[in-house]
Amino acid sequence: MEQVNILIIGAGIIGLAVARELSKEFEDVVLVEAEGTFGRHTSSRNSEVLHSGIYYPKGSLKARLCVNGVRELYQYAKENNIPFRNCGKLIVANNKEELSILEELKNNGENNGVLGLQIINESECKKLEPQIMAKYAVKVPSTGIIDSHKLMQKLENEAENNGAFIVYDMKVISIDAFAEGYLINFSNGENFKAKIIINCAGLHSDKIAEMVGINIKREKLQLHWCKGEYYKSSKIKDINHLIYPVPDPNGIFLGIHLTINLQDEVRFGPNAYYVDELNYEMDESYKPEFLKAIKNYMKIDEENFHLDDCGIRAKLQKEGDSFRDFHIKEESEKGFPNFINCIGIESPGLTCCLTIAQEVRKLINN
Ligand SMILES: Cc1cc2nc3c(=O)[nH]c(=O)nc-3n(C[C@H](O)[C@H](O)[C@H](O)COP(=O)(O)OP(=O)(O)OC[C@H]3O[C@@H](n4cnc5c(N)ncnc54)[C@H](O)[C@@H]3O)c2cc1C
Repeated sequence: MEQVNILIIGAGIIGLAVARELSKEFEDVVLVEAEGTFGRHTSSRNSEVLHSGIYYPKGSLKARLCVNGVRELYQYAKENNIPFRNCGKLIVANNKEELSILEELKNNGENNGVLGLQIINESECKKLEPQIMAKYAVKVPSTGIIDSHKLMQKLENEAENNGAFIVYDMKVISIDAFAEGYLINFSNGENFKAKIIINCAGLHSDKIAEMVGINIKREKLQLHWCKGEYYKSSKIKDINHLIYPVPDPNGIFLGIHLTINLQDEVRFGPNAYYVDELNYEMDESYKPEFLKAIKNYMKIDEENFHLDDCGIRAKLQKEGDSFRDFHIKEESEKGFPNFINCIGIESPGLTCCLTIAQEVRKLINN
């Protein structure tokens, strides 16, 4: 039986960043992943946006880890030749009611430490983005985009160079707690003993917590999967900023927005609806909802508007709930010392990958 010091479960962006961070300092770090390679789920199915931290409540982990995370990721990308662009974003509004939401957002962002926020008027918007219809906008200079695949590749590479082992096709099926640590059983019949477990299993992180014996219902750690689909339009060119509407008042997503990627292709989405199965198939039933939302801020040619891709969010927030923060915790209080959960790592998880990893490091006792 393998005996390891730290076992990390899940090679999405979070598990990879945690493996890199911990392998700088600790020996015997192993990252196990159910799939044949990294990033086969949420980390490859997102908008690749580096968020500023404007949306999240002051004092929350999401606010703190995002504001610091975006800064650190730009620096990391620069130092490691990971393609990115600090393009900035506009959150657009078309009436006075929405303007007051923009003002609240700007105040919230400033309280969180987001720099350079500015409310601009219609003519200033037109100058920046001639194709966008907006009476007002908040200009958010720190937002950007990144090549998330190259980022994951670099994190994997650094973790391995630091001495971490990354093992693919290793699906955790059960975990037993015992006095000196944990026994982890895999679907291929192998098992490992580990002193410390870091649960970075994304959409299944609640199930991993349940495997060790945490009552996820009682602890309100059950995940609610929330699908988001994207459409693309090959005809729209020359957009320089990401364009967001004022956020959804129910707080489950940021509204159907426009993003560009590093090849200057335009995508719209994601929308948001709760699902029970892990199924990345798509149909066009939400297309009218997309078109209606987009027409509030730009003219769109319906003929050149096609389904693109989708992702599924690992939300702690179920329908009707208010804000839920990331759950990043060492679970001694629940009777599981040295078991660290990262649950509910929805957006802005990509932006926060380096700072989440640092947060995990702080939870490990030397
Ligand atoms: C539609 C959408 C848009 C988003 N847009 C953005 C954005 O623009 N900016 C941003 O900052 N964030 C964004 N996010 C959030 C971001 O993508 C996530 O926070 C991040 O990718 C989560 O990474 P993860 O490593 O926790 O999960 P994942 O990438 O899902 O990785 C978890 C891994 O655990 C593995 N695993 C699961 N169970 C087991 C098991 N039993 N044994 C072994 N391995 C297991 C899985 O196979 C998987 O590889 C978006 C998310 C979605 C869904």
